[in-house]
Amino acid sequence: MNCTEFLANLTDFFDAKTATALRSELEQHMAGCSHCHVTVDTTRQTIEVYRNDELFELPESIRTQLHQAVLTKCEKLKRKKESKA
Ligand SMILES: [Zn+2]
Repeated sequence: MNCTEFLANLTDFFDAKTATALRSELEQHMAGCSHCHVTVDTTRQTIEVYRNDELFELPESIRTQLHQAVLTKCEKLKRKKESKA
């Protein structure tokens, strides 16, 4: 395997479904090629950052629900104030 082949299969390296044979070929090349090793490291970090972002990003529906809940609370407080006054 050369660098071009390695890069062509780079996404497979992070895919758990990738066949073990291909994976060990990729690992073998990476072990002897610092350039591809760095590429894999960088890609892995990018993927991990992306995954972390996903964890902390609220789905649109939950965001809307939260927004609604806050609005309802504000409305209730406002009405309470008004009824007192
Ligand atoms: Zn390489």
